[in-house]
Amino acid sequence: MEYSPMAGSADFNSHAIKLAYGEDSPLIKDGHVAAVQTLSGTGACRLFGDFIHQYYPDSGMLLPTPTWSNHLGIFKDANVKTTNIRYYDPKTKGLDFKGFVEDLKAAPKKSFVLFHACAHNPTGVDPTPEQWKEISAVVKEKQQYPLFDMAYQGFASGDTERDAASIRIFLEDGHQVAVSQSFAKNMGLYGQRIGCLSVVTENPQETTAVRGQIQLVARKQYSNPPIHGALLVTRVLSSPDLKQLWYKEVQGMADRIISMRHSLRSNLEAAGSKLPWNHITDQIGMFCFTGITPEQVDRLTHEHHIYLTRNGRISIAGINTGNVERLAHALHEVTK
Ligand code: PLP
Repeated sequence: MEYSPMAGSADFNSHAIKLAYGEDSPLIKDGHVAAVQTLSGTGACRLFGDFIHQYYPDSGMLLPTPTWSNHLGIFKDANVKTTNIRYYDPKTKGLDFKGFVEDLKAAPKKSFVLFHACAHNPTGVDPTPEQWKEISAVVKEKQQYPLFDMAYQGFASGDTERDAASIRIFLEDGHQVAVSQSFAKNMGLYGQRIGCLSVVTENPQETTAVRGQIQLVARKQYSNPPIHGALLVTRVLSSPDLKQLWYKEVQGMADRIISMRHSLRSNLEAAGSKLPWNHITDQIGMFCFTGITPEQVDRLTHEHHIYLTRNGRISIAGINTGNVERLAHALHEVTK
């Protein structure tokens, strides 16, 4: 039970960034990625927050509205000024692409921008690859700096490569990105607190410098990250057989989530609901933003003992063939 180095396991970091940037990424081969093992995705976001506060104290962070609620607290505590920009359109229960792009264009040059790489939490609404290309062009024009928070790689499409498409599009366009990765969900390692923060740099010297500075932030917070999760991830990703098995299991999880989305929608229709529920199957990943009101959420809780956050977000992973019909009936009852 020795300590790991301050940046964590070099083997783990190397496997993690290959998953995010691509197995044959030239950036990795040429030493252009500074990577540090983190306390899961939360720790990666916080390290990045502290790092940018230290070196870019005047640059704020743009966050989509809504976003994972902890983003606000993480960057606030790191003394990074945050600004919410449009993202989700409650009317269509889809992406407000026009508003998102307008707000990126209106934001100060050289701002940091947080993007959910895939399976946006809490809305389940992601841009299409074509929209990502347009977003990338705007970010370039504004010299903004993207942080991709990737807590759900594999959960959107079932394919870890496809789910990294947003990051790959930005890399193709020559952006220097930062990526926060979590293995909590896609490897079921919540309690091991295993993640990775990586930053694309200009050259290998800068990689050493950036890694060194991020390590110094980590040193003051927790000295060095825990070892067990890093060993587990490295074991899976370094064995071709285990890796294939893991890919299959991730696909199985995503397929089950997608089939539960279809089942919930068809059960609502079968229960007689005349409301449009297409967003349940249009949205992607673990979460669904149902669009129901806080009062309807309260009725679900008090009258039907169905528990969800008051913004109407349900975790599709909590639905199964045994409870989907009951959920659909209750949802229909409170939205009649
Ligand atoms: N980012 C997003 C968007 C999330 O939804 C989560 C978890 O809910 C995280 C990051 C971080 O999770 P963890 O710290 O468990 O890896």
